[in-house]
Amino acid sequence: MSTESQPSSRVPAVARSGDRPRPTDQADVRRHNASLVLESVMVDGPLSRARVAARTGLTRATVGSIVDDLLGALLITEQGTRTPTGVGRPGTDLALNPGGGAGIGLEINVDGLAAVVVDLGGTVRHRVSRSGDQRGRATSAVLRSAAKLVDDAMAAAYDEGLSVRGVGVAVPGLVDLAEQVVRLAPNLGWTDVRVVERLRLYAVTAWPDSITLDNEANLAALGELWSGDHGGAESFVLVNGDVGVGAGVVLDGRLHRGSRGFSGELGHLTVAPDGPECRCGARGCLEQVAGLDWILRQAGVRDEPRIGEDAVAPLLARLTSGDGRAISAVREAGGSLGVGVAALVNLFDVDTVVLGGIFAPLFPWLDQPLSAVVRRRVLSARWAPLHITASRLGRDAAVIGAGQAPLQSLLADPLAPIAEAG
Ligand SMILES: [Zn+2]
Repeated sequence: MSTESQPSSRVPAVARSGDRPRPTDQADVRRHNASLVLESVMVDGPLSRARVAARTGLTRATVGSIVDDLLGALLITEQGTRTPTGVGRPGTDLALNPGGGAGIGLEINVDGLAAVVVDLGGTVRHRVSRSGDQRGRATSAVLRSAAKLVDDAMAAAYDEGLSVRGVGVAVPGLVDLAEQVVRLAPNLGWTDVRVVERLRLYAVTAWPDSITLDNEANLAALGELWSGDHGGAESFVLVNGDVGVGAGVVLDGRLHRGSRGFSGELGHLTVAPDGPECRCGARGCLEQVAGLDWILRQAGVRDEPRIGEDAVAPLLARLTSGDGRAISAVREAGGSLGVGVAALVNLFDVDTVVLGGIFAPLFPWLDQPLSAVVRRRVLSARWAPLHITASRLGRDAAVIGAGQAPLQSLLADPLAPIAEAG
């Protein structure tokens, strides 16, 4: 297990207007206004109360009263005292309080587990991980290890004086959001696993009430969206690579989940109808020719990565040393990935594709073959070039997105009544 307590990533969290509740009565109007005030401070702060009023169009009295509530909730803070420019008492500026809360992100993946503590300002304050292949382990053993990582993250947050507002859990599979159940995670061999319930069972410390489960590629895409570091594109696809391959599709600033929440299964797009059999039961799925297992096998790194080992490190070492076999394996995977990406671009007309998971560190070797295939297969490529980039959040895009998820709910509706425990 590795532990780093140093801040490793700066991700300004931004609540999005579309996620706010629509006001229907007076209490709702106040909650809606609170989200406007908080967004104004987050995006343009530090700001005086008067400037918040000017920017939101709310009265100074309304702003003053909401600011008192937000200060009480520790979501914002008063900064210093400005020298008065004219007559009257000096004013104070309002700013987001990064230490006012934290979210814990947990990623359960085939080749390892990771947990992070992300503060309100989007900084990763703590990261713990457990490398190694999880496929040989019983579901209960995986979930026990995962719960231990969250317990460790809770302790780290406590040590830093951060109040944990919620936990987000990223898993590589189909998530039934309403029931909070992993319906199918083919690479883990999981069917109908009640992840949240079982994690709570194994928890040693007191976890917050808010625990949400989501697909890893969706959370990686949301992490990118919230970080605002995808070239400002409002429509993009995040392709998350590991043993499996998934996509999070963001259209007009919102994650496209599909009618039942199961969209984005790019890894099971058929790229070779007679290709190798997939864990899903079909043949020639993209992840069978572009996923981590395939790349490691083709690169000759090793056949079966073992528990406790990071499978990607030796691959990267070979790539950087110029190993021909490793380089051609990754380039071939890039070509296959290009077929999948081209299909997505032809369907959704996104202008940006962000590569996350293992594809982020592999980007320098994937980029050229992937781009070449995309140029050849995307009908509009001549007139609308596609921007392909590596996720700045790297392999941690999903776990950081998971940690930000509870904070985004809080920032979008800062005065929501706190749910009763139990
Ligand atoms: Zn498949």
